[in-house]
Amino acid sequence: MAIIKVQKGTKDILPPEMPIWHFMEEKAKKIFTKYGAKEIRTPIFEATELFARGVGDTTDIVNKEMYTFEKSDRSLTLRPENTAGVVRAFIENGMHRLSAPVKLWYKGPMFRYERPQAGRQRQFHQVGVEVFGIKQATADAEVILMAVNYLKELGLNDLTVELNSLGCPKCREEFKTRLKDVIRPYLPQLCEDCQTRFDKNPLRLLDCKSPECQEIYAKPEIQAVIQGDFICQECSDHFEELKGYLDTLGIKYERNKLLVRGLDYYNRTVFEIKSNNLGSQNAVCGGGRYDSLVKNLGGEDVPAIGFAMGMERLASLLGEKQDEKLTAYVVSNNTIEAIKLTEELRSKDITCEFDLTNKKFVKQLEKASKIAKYALILGEDEIANNEITVKNLDSGEQKTVKRNELDMK
Ligand code: ATP
Ligand code: MG
Repeated sequence: MAIIKVQKGTKDILPPEMPIWHFMEEKAKKIFTKYGAKEIRTPIFEATELFARGVGDTTDIVNKEMYTFEKSDRSLTLRPENTAGVVRAFIENGMHRLSAPVKLWYKGPMFRYERPQAGRQRQFHQVGVEVFGIKQATADAEVILMAVNYLKELGLNDLTVELNSLGCPKCREEFKTRLKDVIRPYLPQLCEDCQTRFDKNPLRLLDCKSPECQEIYAKPEIQAVIQGDFICQECSDHFEELKGYLDTLGIKYERNKLLVRGLDYYNRTVFEIKSNNLGSQNAVCGGGRYDSLVKNLGGEDVPAIGFAMGMERLASLLGEKQDEKLTAYVVSNNTIEAIKLTEELRSKDITCEFDLTNKKFVKQLEKASKIAKYALILGEDEIANNEITVKNLDSGEQKTVKRNELDMK
């Protein structure tokens, strides 16, 4: 019979890879908790409308990448990202009444119907943070610090923080108009996507990957608009304040005026962290401020800022981590005594196994030396004398002790 295979763009995370995943998850909990963030877990599917409104219906995610299905006349979608879900939960649970800032972090699978390639899957995992209730640049600084320190704690260097300010809806409108004015003469030469973006979401023009479009956007009159400072005084003060905090703390960043981010909801600060050791899919983290999203999804007027990191991309930078060996393997041909001792050790939180098939003694010892740090030998003599022979499988050292004196440090 034909075997059923894993779906294109999805992967099994097998036991040998698990130490890396546990490492990433444990460090997330440790670092984000230090900043006062609490974990939140939201459902993997939500009403399609949440993403249409929350992510924005001019984005690639909503237009091309969503896994949407009908159930009992409802349109549901597997979450392509977690900010919209967290914001929904924030509103639904009245978290605006909690004392600000409300700092939440999450981890889990996301789903996007994309062309699978290195660093790009259809089911992938993100770890992320959202901070609600603070409009000052201190929150922007803390969020960037959380991201940078998490990556540092993972041992990842050779990363670049790219930073930009998209201004507020008011100053951005003017920028969009100026940008459209200089790009309009080239409109027929732009790619199909950019032709749509021109009307629907002109900022995203800058994000286009097509070399033909990029050549056009590199023209001096267009660059003059892009590189010019369009943001208003208030937005500029906010950005300067943020940069001041980052400078004080020695966090290096580069201004990237082309950084606009894929999602519609960002305003003011946007940032990305890129690895210099990944191929073309080199962004490990993307984030930004989204002051209008909570209100747009029906909540109070609560400012917010957050980021998400792609865990598969982090994992590929982290390489391999050795799996921990079992502490003990009980070697005995007396199954009853072996099962009793194994359970006794497990009750003391010692990782331990015994041979379920009662193989020959030497075979059991061989297996022990492959998977455990200590072999605990229970032969007839040991059982009769209430003793255990402890063999250190690294050094080969062996000694017989009373059962109540067993010590494996
Ligand atoms: P990209 O430009 O790479 O498509 P994006 O802007 O769509 O990224 P975000 O929505 O900001 O990405 O998601 C944050 C992070 O999640 C990315 O920086 C990346 O590390 C990771 N990520 C996004 N899409 C995928 C995917 N399909 N497979 C694996 N990781 C992904
Ligand atoms: Mg994408």
